[in-house]
Amino acid sequence: SFRRSARMSGIQLSEIVQISERARALRAEGRNVVALSTGEPDFPTPDNVIAAAHRAALDGKTTYPPTMGTVDLRAAIADQAGVSAAQVIVSTGAKQVLSNAMLATLDPGDEVIMPAPYWTSYSDIVAMAGGTPVVLTCDMAQGFKLTAAQLAAAITDQTRWVMLNSPSNPSGAIYSVGEQAELADVLRAHPHVMVLVDEIYAHLSYTPFTSFAEVAPDLADRILIVNGVSKAYAMTGWRIGWGIGPAEMIRALGAVQGQVTSGACSISQAAALEAISGDQSLLVDRRRAMCARRDRMVTALNGVAGITCPVPDGAFYVFPDIRDAMAAGGFATDVEFCSTLLEQAGVAIVPGRAFGLPGHARLSFAYSDAEIDTGLTRIAEFVASF
Ligand code: PLP
Repeated sequence: SFRRSARMSGIQLSEIVQISERARALRAEGRNVVALSTGEPDFPTPDNVIAAAHRAALDGKTTYPPTMGTVDLRAAIADQAGVSAAQVIVSTGAKQVLSNAMLATLDPGDEVIMPAPYWTSYSDIVAMAGGTPVVLTCDMAQGFKLTAAQLAAAITDQTRWVMLNSPSNPSGAIYSVGEQAELADVLRAHPHVMVLVDEIYAHLSYTPFTSFAEVAPDLADRILIVNGVSKAYAMTGWRIGWGIGPAEMIRALGAVQGQVTSGACSISQAAALEAISGDQSLLVDRRRAMCARRDRMVTALNGVAGITCPVPDGAFYVFPDIRDAMAAGGFATDVEFCSTLLEQAGVAIVPGRAFGLPGHARLSFAYSDAEIDTGLTRIAEFVASF
């Protein structure tokens, strides 16, 4: 009879998906629900990108792609990063780069250090690959960022990876050059530790962004940079992401990929090539639009009693502290606060627990001004009713 593997036993549908599905169910019942919960831009995929996909399909690019990515796309990514194509793997979303990396490198007992708040999938992907997530709490007072002292204290002989995400989902935090240099100093003393740096929101930075790879080029033989087109180019459904690292590491990721997907969708790869090598002016316009929405949301949230919202430096999320509002309403947990908000006020936001940092909530500002205004008005009314 059916039985889950031990590997999958603790892994459930993510809390983000659960909230979104509940919001959808309420809408189906005729309720007016504002969702501020999803992690995707509300912009359409650019027309030139769609045209490139169309051409690729008509030109017969419909057979199995090379496992590691098409020659053209790998070369374009490598060129932009200043590395060789052998140091690039194209996968079915950044998510598959992460899972390839963990499956390729973790044995039972191996530890992966991740600062909380972290993107929900990090801990599940590590657990699914048989590793042990080592979660280090990085609260609002430290800008939601890992310090060198915390990292140094957490490294053991079993540490295989440190996972960094800048700009961060859910906090929007960006590591400065100085902060990254301090982390790199710690890593220099521990050559057995690899570094996965997820830079999928790099194009959505509202303060200067510098890649970890540039800050610590001497660590290149153990850095895996993760990126993709989902967020920057509004291409979440096309499922193209990539990893950049030492050739030996990239080959190991490819060995996993060869057995799991045989490579990413050929038509999507043609689209991604156009996205990263075609006209980039759209990125500037979209970043500017997102930044205005950020300010709109932060201002409104800070006007609500019991909610403290720092200004995020990047991505399209805010991660306010809601503990005083929870206390005022008699909510013991952020999960209870968020589910009651959804049921009673019709606003979907994600509890901080999903990101390893309870007492907070994540709101996305990748929505229209009207949706942001309606959502925030409802949140203010909900809190005012306590
Ligand atoms: N990394 C982070 C931090 C994310 O927030 C997401 C998507 O939410 C991903 C990776 C996954 O991106 P992709 O759509 O390329 O799989």
